[in-house]
Formats: sequence, C-alpha cells, structure tokens
Amino acid sequence: MKKWGFLLLLIFCFCLPFMNIDSFFDNQKDLPKDEHYENELVKEGMISETLENIEITKEEVYEGNLLLVNSEFPVHPDSIKSDVINLSAHDELTKGYGLLDSEIYLSEEIARRFSEMISAAEKEGVRHFSINSGFRDFDEQSKLYEEMGSAYALPAGYSEHNLGLSLDVGSTQMEMAQAPEGKWIEENAWKYGFILRYPKDKTAITGIQYEPWHIRYVGLPHSVIMEEKNLALEEYLDYLKEQKSISTTINGGKYQISYYPVTEDTTIQVPSNFPFEISGNNMDGVIVTVFSGTIHNSLRELKEAE
Ligand SMILES: [Zn+2]
Repeated sequence: MKKWGFLLLLIFCFCLPFMNIDSFFDNQKDLPKDEHYENELVKEGMISETLENIEITKEEVYEGNLLLVNSEFPVHPDSIKSDVINLSAHDELTKGYGLLDSEIYLSEEIARRFSEMISAAEKEGVRHFSINSGFRDFDEQSKLYEEMGSAYALPAGYSEHNLGLSLDVGSTQMEMAQAPEGKWIEENAWKYGFILRYPKDKTAITGIQYEPWHIRYVGLPHSVIMEEKNLALEEYLDYLKEQKSISTTINGGKYQISYYPVTEDTTIQVPSNFPFEISGNNMDGVIVTVFSGTIHNSLRELKEAE
C-alpha cells in the first residue's frame, strides 16, 4: 500500500507543472458561473475553464469602440476618445492621403488604423484619398449645424464625429459616390475594422441618408461580422443583445462576443488566459470580446499570422 501511495505522490508531483494551478486550487463555487461563458467557450475548447472576475462600472456603458450614437442615444461626455490628436502635426500617420485643412482631429488609434488601410489601398492602385473631417467637439458641431442646417449636419452631441471614432473620407479627384476611392472603401473598409456607417440599404434603420464618405471604426471582429450578416450598427448591437453570446472564427482567429446588461456596477467573469476587450453600447450594457490568441486589427494581419 505504501508503495502505491508513494507512486501516486510521484505521479502528482510529475503532473503538477502541467496542471492549471489556479483551477486546481481555486474553484470559484461561491460565485454564480455565467451560463453562456460556461457553455460556449469551454465546450468549444476555445478557452480553459479558468475564469477571473472583473468589475464593470456603469461608466463603462459609455466607453469603447462599439458605442451607438444616433438621434436616440446622444454622446455621453465620458465617451469622447482620450487620444484625439491634430493630424496635421503627425506626418507619420498621414502618409498617402491628404487633409482638407490643418484642423483635422482624430483619435490617434483610429488614425493609425486608417493609415494602415490607406497603405493597403495604395498597393491596389487606389491612392487619391483625403480626410475631410474627423473629430469635432460640441462647439464645432453646433457651429456646423447652425451654418449648414439639419440636412447636412447633426446637432452637437448627436454626431459620431463628437466621439473621435468617425471620419469623412474623400477623393481628391471626384465625389465619393463615383470615385474609385469610394468604391474601394465600400468594398474593403470592413477588413480593417471600419464600417460604412450610413449605407444605401440601411437608411430606414440609421435615419441618415446614404453617406459613402462617412466611416466609423468598430474594430475586428465586429466589422467582419457586420459585413457578413449585412447589419448596420443598430442591428448588430440588437443582434448581440438577443443572442447574448456568439462565437466566430475568422481566418483561423477565434472570437467570443458576449453582451452583458449593466444597470449598476457589476461583476462578470472572463477567461483568465486570453486577451479581451470591453466596450459599452451607449445604451444599456457592455460587449466583451474574447480573442483566442493575439488581437489582430485587420484581415491581412490575421492571414499573415496563419
Ligand atoms: Zn461624417
């Protein structure tokens, strides 16, 4: 018997380095496990069952790249991107395209994503892009609204431009609706995390006329799913709320996207061994996106990683 005990101890010690110590010693029985995480992620072998608790504050409903801004859901002061820069002072981010004037502002992160997209377009022979408008503060938005009227501009606080996540892209050659630049954006922006926010076939949902120039950053994998399912941002956020949790594979990259209602500060569980991003929806909850590996910003990055 002693021999067996010793053997078991030996096996245990041998296996210890290969075990997940956290899940071995710390079973989180005292906290209610989130059903949809348990079922989808673990079942698919996408993540281990080790989960960690994170606190979600009410403010997080108003932060992130998936915020919905329209006539019903105005911009919350906390939603404005904190990394807004004047593009004319950043030559490294404005290669390969023009700026309408020296007062074009944008989130630095979004400017970087845009710049990567433009260099991809250039390789495909489409190279006459300009940014005509980017981030606008409430004062500038008010001025624009007063000067141009409601047919052209939205009142302050109701425009995505007030977030720093949207920009108006133009062609230096002709109107976007006719330009190769417009066609390229329409066909390819989703591969780089951008969406055409006001498409021709969604005017009844967005309440905004077709704008082939206005793009909005949402990031991967969201832009890809929206393209595949032909969903406007309004529809996509509703879809996530309905489904509660979806998982998808894009070019070998696996993602789990889950919606959580947030009415007060709350605790949710996320896998402790994979990167994740949290974004509010500017309405009533947050969307947690879990990446099965490295976070990739474009389909091309994903392909290269394959
Ligand atoms: Zn716009």
